[in-house]
Amino acid sequence: MLPAISSQKPDELTGWLAQSGEPAYRADQILRWVHKGSISGWSQMRNIPDSLKKKLSSHFSFSSVKLVHKQGGIDTTIKFLWKLSDGQYVESVLIPASPSLYGETSDRHTLCISTQVGCAYGCKFCASGLEGFKRNLNPGEVIDQVLGVEALFKKRISSDRRLITNLVIMGMGEPLANYDNLLDALNVLNSNWSANIGARKITISTSGLVPQIIKLSDQPKQYRLAISLHGATDEVRNKIMPINRKYSLSKLSDAVEIYQSRKNGSITLEYILIEGINDGIDQVPHLAILSERLRAKVNIIPYNSVEGLGYKRPSITIQERFVRALIDKGVRATLRREKGHDIDAACGQLRLKAEKKLDSGEN
Ligand code: SAH
Ligand code: SF4
Repeated sequence: MLPAISSQKPDELTGWLAQSGEPAYRADQILRWVHKGSISGWSQMRNIPDSLKKKLSSHFSFSSVKLVHKQGGIDTTIKFLWKLSDGQYVESVLIPASPSLYGETSDRHTLCISTQVGCAYGCKFCASGLEGFKRNLNPGEVIDQVLGVEALFKKRISSDRRLITNLVIMGMGEPLANYDNLLDALNVLNSNWSANIGARKITISTSGLVPQIIKLSDQPKQYRLAISLHGATDEVRNKIMPINRKYSLSKLSDAVEIYQSRKNGSITLEYILIEGINDGIDQVPHLAILSERLRAKVNIIPYNSVEGLGYKRPSITIQERFVRALIDKGVRATLRREKGHDIDAACGQLRLKAEKKLDSGEN
């Protein structure tokens, strides 16, 4: 497998050009095409001589992800299924900004990206972990999900404006279990020679890998952190998230507190509501204490049922009662409505369905 051109840093590419007998100024031109050109192949690099394009294509792959399925329209969420060079599938989801309270829409588009094929953490309610862990994505495979979507919507964007303004690392896999590749990819996407997406516009979601949360608080970038909490007591969390047996709520909240104190205010607690499991009003006081301590907002997400798993989303009345009780305790809590529901349904589920369909020769 050839390395992806998108994962080459300026100094690495300059070094390769020197070795190949090419002038250093080509690095700038190539990086501009790859990261800012929204192009889909070597042939579109108009100011690069054919001889160099030939060398490039025998040393690097232009993209490490290939689109095999796209679902949805530009005004709703769009789900992308990508095939990797070893035949595995991952998915990304593009989420347009909601209309604001005053009715106007903004240009904000968030892309939800995957970091692993499958997941080893086995949360009981989640489709991503259903078939276990397959492998980590390399930095190019993470970056190419972003560049691949930009290239697909090239006609809708002008050269100085990008489609994707925000990233959420909430697709398939546990991002902090692929720490080095993830950080490598995000540092590229954050650079001004690449997508230039601000660190504060990038949210990393984790099920609670305590040592990696601490490590993330030691690196310089101000990435936002979302914690998949889904239970405000160890008793409830243990039932659905095996990781809680290793890193209990008290260890997790200590680590998140460190992150919060070093990065100053960028924590979200994600809480999916699952009927009869974690939707009891007795969870509310515990959740309120945690959110106050961590100065975190709380995102309540109605659960999306997954084929083959027995969990259900509670009624709207139960959902609203839960959120109301949190707000009454002074918590900054929001209930994610239908659009969120579509998005979450995509993560992990689209791939499982597609794998079955594509492997049986349909599509
Ligand atoms: N592994 C990371 C990131 C990927 S999961 C994590 O767990 O945070 C992204 C989010 O989707 C997590 O909060 C996860 O708990 C949630 N999720 C998983 N399955 C879901 C489902 N069926 N319905 C709603 N949310 C789900
Ligand atoms: Fe993995 Fe996150 Fe799904 Fe848990 S919720 S199985 S950590 S992807």
